[in-house]
Amino acid sequence: MRLSKDSASHSSSIPQPDRQSALLLVDPQNDFFPGGAMGMTEDINLIPAIDTYIKHFSRNGWPILATRDWHPPNHCSFAEQGGVHPTHCVQGSRGAQFHTDLVMPPGMMVISKGTDAKKDAGSGFEGSSLADRLEDLDVKTVFILGPATQDCLKQTIMDACKLGLQVIILKDAIGTETSADTFKEIFQTEAMQATASDLGIKPT
Ligand code: ZN
Repeated sequence: MRLSKDSASHSSSIPQPDRQSALLLVDPQNDFFPGGAMGMTEDINLIPAIDTYIKHFSRNGWPILATRDWHPPNHCSFAEQGGVHPTHCVQGSRGAQFHTDLVMPPGMMVISKGTDAKKDAGSGFEGSSLADRLEDLDVKTVFILGPATQDCLKQTIMDACKLGLQVIILKDAIGTETSADTFKEIFQTEAMQATASDLGIKPT
């Protein structure tokens, strides 16, 4: 890994992305942002923060993967089917699309989950091809972000740690409307935390 002068001056304890790293966007879908079926009330900084990381990884040619909740209309997690969530991220709906203001790079890999009507999948690894894709790409370190911190993001982080991946939570690009307990659980994992400035990304 070649460090630029810039990144070398940042905290040496935070691993810098290299070609064995990937950016993992967890469910950056309309339904999890303000105005969406399961969206937070407001977070004006989240989209630009996510965008900054996408551009940084894209510029450097490092892999970018996105998970998406991709439910059939009769999914078991929906309240009308006896589940606990409002209807959200129905396959092909606007709510299931990646946030309208995010520019996704060409070549980004999309991993669908929760596609079986009878099974829910909070974690991006659950019943999906995510672990295989990361292995194929020889990824050892994942930099993780996403709006749905309470559930999907938390579970994805935990599974990534269990798989033995080095996990860096991009804490300035995750949803903040989450219970203190959830943050405690997340930050008790082996995952490290970083911000854009830790990665030598200058504010735009
Ligand atoms: Zn869901």
